[in-house]
Amino acid sequence: MHSHEHALTDWQQALGRFHILLPGIPAVTSRGWLAYCTTVLFRLKGHWALYDTGHYSDRSQLLAALAKVQVRPDEIYTVILSHLHFDHVLNLPLFGNATVVVAQAELDYARDVAAGTRQDHAIPETWPALLKDRNLHVVDGSAVLDDGMEAVVLPGHTPGCLVLFCDAPVPVALCGDALKNAWELFSPASVVTPVDDAHRLAGIAAIRARAQVVIPGHDRPFGMVSGGLCYLSGYDFTITGDLFPEPRNRVLLDLPMTAGLRRRPEK
Ligand SMILES: [Zn+2]
Repeated sequence: MHSHEHALTDWQQALGRFHILLPGIPAVTSRGWLAYCTTVLFRLKGHWALYDTGHYSDRSQLLAALAKVQVRPDEIYTVILSHLHFDHVLNLPLFGNATVVVAQAELDYARDVAAGTRQDHAIPETWPALLKDRNLHVVDGSAVLDDGMEAVVLPGHTPGCLVLFCDAPVPVALCGDALKNAWELFSPASVVTPVDDAHRLAGIAAIRARAQVVIPGHDRPFGMVSGGLCYLSGYDFTITGDLFPEPRNRVLLDLPMTAGLRRRPEK
């Protein structure tokens, strides 16, 4: 068993394979979903790949983040969609060369939503147009995408959540909204989804069993330690606004989301 100082080095090394282009933000507003998801760049079979794409409101940030690491959108060969909610898929058209990896169960679910037999306000009506004429890799159950890299369907947030497990050098899980944030790992009974609780909890248990480092859909990456976790990266999240007659671009919220250990609060 590692001490966590020891493990931390391994975790940071493991995370070196996964570049967080845009960090997921675990927050909602009184005005609606904030919905900034984690967007991850990594190498897959010698080419660039993305896990989730974000949505319109962060499109320019996504392009800027790619430019910063000198990757062009047309160099992205694979886009894995964790699921078909708008906050994860709407920037897909930027990556016209990419094969799109998506779960069969999620396509079936989105078809049910379009047919009106199920309701989900986060599936965009335009999803068929997003996938039209695209090269699709539809995953039924699971698929090995590269050596030690497996996409696994774990119903949870939606019926077709696609979690990417990378087994070496340290097991990492890119979770999408199968695990939106760290609280869902520690208190998994507290969210409402279209999937029954037994399946959702089994998905979270599968992530916990296979991964040491977790990259959630709307939170920053962390490693698990007993009684808590260690965030592996930080992000300074701010909201600015123009509240007349206050100065323009006044900082309304400045939330330093720092790296480091967090203990689960005592009950
Ligand atoms: Zn989401």
